[in-house]
Amino acid sequence: MKEWEKLVRKVTPYVPGEQPNERDIVKLNTNENPYPPAPGVQRVLREMKADELRLYPDPTAAGLVECIAQYYQVKSSQVFTGVGSDDVLAMAFMTFFNGKDPVLFPEITYSFYDVWADVFRIPYQQIPLDEKFQIVPSDYFGENRKNGGIIFPNPNAPTGVELPQEAIESILLHNPDVVVIVDEAYVDFGAESALPFIDKYENLLIVQTFSKSRSMAGMRIGYAIGSEKLIRYLNDVKYSVNSYTMNRTALALGIEAIKDDAYFKKNLKNLMETREWVKDELKGLGFLFEDSKANFIFASHKSVPAKEIFEELKKEHIYVRYFPKPRIDNYLRISIGTRGEMGKLLNAMKKFLK
Ligand SMILES: *Cc1c(COP(=O)(O)O)cnc(C)c1O
Repeated sequence: MKEWEKLVRKVTPYVPGEQPNERDIVKLNTNENPYPPAPGVQRVLREMKADELRLYPDPTAAGLVECIAQYYQVKSSQVFTGVGSDDVLAMAFMTFFNGKDPVLFPEITYSFYDVWADVFRIPYQQIPLDEKFQIVPSDYFGENRKNGGIIFPNPNAPTGVELPQEAIESILLHNPDVVVIVDEAYVDFGAESALPFIDKYENLLIVQTFSKSRSMAGMRIGYAIGSEKLIRYLNDVKYSVNSYTMNRTALALGIEAIKDDAYFKKNLKNLMETREWVKDELKGLGFLFEDSKANFIFASHKSVPAKEIFEELKKEHIYVRYFPKPRIDNYLRISIGTRGEMGKLLNAMKKFLK
């Protein structure tokens, strides 16, 4: 290794799901929404003036922040926005996880958490889920679980399993001295949000995204909601790294997405109906899974190895997600697409799962 290389911050990066370029594929591997963004988003996008790109965007993202605040009935000073929730979460790790004790998160969870912990040199401990892929709240407090913060997704990823409100509150009750982050990337698909707890627990940060439920993964908009104090600390760090995280296009289109609540609710309803139908079909094909409250199902087959199914599907140009990791290497994470796409998936499966 060269001398200068010894000074490099060495990290093992997160590996996102494949974004294949072929056409006519059925893409069920990165939990994108199969429906287009709201019509208002498309209209404002068409009307955008390239000339305005000369100007910096509003560093406070005030328009979008106010829109989100109104939607969730909180103050503007309780909302923080970022370039997708990945950006918001990275900022939150940097801002809140500065202790000596390890940050706690589940062993099976969003695989970006350990990457951020590593890149920011944050000590962490991964807590096993129980045999039904549930988070066990009492594992997150007590004598031997002194910690420097807690983060988990609800519903969890890639399992889709929801943690009930009482369980979340029990974690909060026992952890008043650290920041607890609930990553609600999938909460709109039928789980309960921890939002009602933010007035009671000033150390609770809720993170959500436009990428999944609002069909805007390509636009990169995420946000956090919490006490004014938490949001102020987050902004201090943001303004110390990059004042202009949100570009003009994202700010304008994000507002349109929030405004059209009827369209949002209609898509969610369609998607959840498709999910429940796919659950029944998968059961019939011999798949086993815990109940999912997300826009994906995390399933294993009673006799055919997941990797084999994954390869077979790929031959048919159907992409699902396979994680070659301990304990989950016999599972497939299948995103919920349109009814048509799911029909193609099920037909392909029926061909070789006999
Ligand atoms: C998709 C996802 C995110 C990040 O999504 P963004 O596109 O960056 O908003 C965060 N957490 C979990 C659990 C996710 O699945």
